[in-house]
Amino acid sequence: ATPTAVMVGTGVGATQGVLIKGGQALESAHKVNCIVFDKTGTLTIGKPVIVTTKLFKNMSVQDFYELVAAAEVNSEHPIARAIVEHAKKIITEDEQNHTWPEVRDFVSISGHGVKAIVQNKEILAGNKKLMMDHNIAISVDAEEVLAEAERLAQTGILVSLDGEIAGVLAVSDPLKPDAKEVISILKSMKIKSIMVTGDNWGTANSIARQAGIETVMAEAQPHTKATQVKDLQNSGYTVAMVGDGINDSPALVSADVGMAIGAGTDIAIEAADIVLMRSNLEDIVIAIDLAKKTFNRIR
Ligand code: ADP
Ligand code: MG
Repeated sequence: ATPTAVMVGTGVGATQGVLIKGGQALESAHKVNCIVFDKTGTLTIGKPVIVTTKLFKNMSVQDFYELVAAAEVNSEHPIARAIVEHAKKIITEDEQNHTWPEVRDFVSISGHGVKAIVQNKEILAGNKKLMMDHNIAISVDAEEVLAEAERLAQTGILVSLDGEIAGVLAVSDPLKPDAKEVISILKSMKIKSIMVTGDNWGTANSIARQAGIETVMAEAQPHTKATQVKDLQNSGYTVAMVGDGINDSPALVSADVGMAIGAGTDIAIEAADIVLMRSNLEDIVIAIDLAKKTFNRIR
């Protein structure tokens, strides 16, 4: 394509909220035949809410949430924010001025959860891996709650107090309304869709099924997202990565085309070649169509 055609393409993109950072991005985008999607905040709305709480200890749900929220209030994770919001709702009328119990020895364990001492109790909140790494037994009852959450495409969060499971929360973060249609349009364009997530396999498979995605990679770490992209490139695919999180930035850089959700973190937006300002998944199709029009018309 001529420089003028590229400029026109980039300009048309901008009017539709598709920010293309240079001609190389547009050129690579016209060859894309595989798209790797982050799950949370990319395929899903990214505003998780607590939908179920099951307690296994003789304590009130208020006392339970007081401890969990205190442990989570220092975490940036969207699940942590959901827990704190939920706790405020059930504990206090004065959501602005509520203060949580004092926390000691807070540790955030990336991809697994949090750990802290609250009211002289050691509290852990996170996934199965977190509990296993701390030798905490997961009862059959707790396993059942987790399995049911996963079946419903929700994420189960285990909470332990002084080494014993005290409760399980189910967190719901539904698919974006356009996700399924976009995946099906991409399929008709002969573009393969893959989902990667740090979430567990059960939840990941349920969400992927809802979206119509057949290939899933769950329990991923940030560097494994980038490795996955490179593996696909090595097997001959031209790969686009779509993500919103700090965790996604290595993969956004590795991909032939990194696409960031406009509502995502600044780090993801910086790492990307194309920014979807309206945060719509449909704009992925617009970007690729535009690239094809630009590069297939004038040679
Ligand atoms: P993702 O954002 O793709 O779900 P992460 O790697 O951030 O992946 O987290 C993986 C999993 O670790 C989450 O699904 C959740 O089960 C658990 N986790 C991470 N951070 C927290 C937290 N602050 N509180 C509870 N669980 C957490
Ligand atoms: Mg995300």
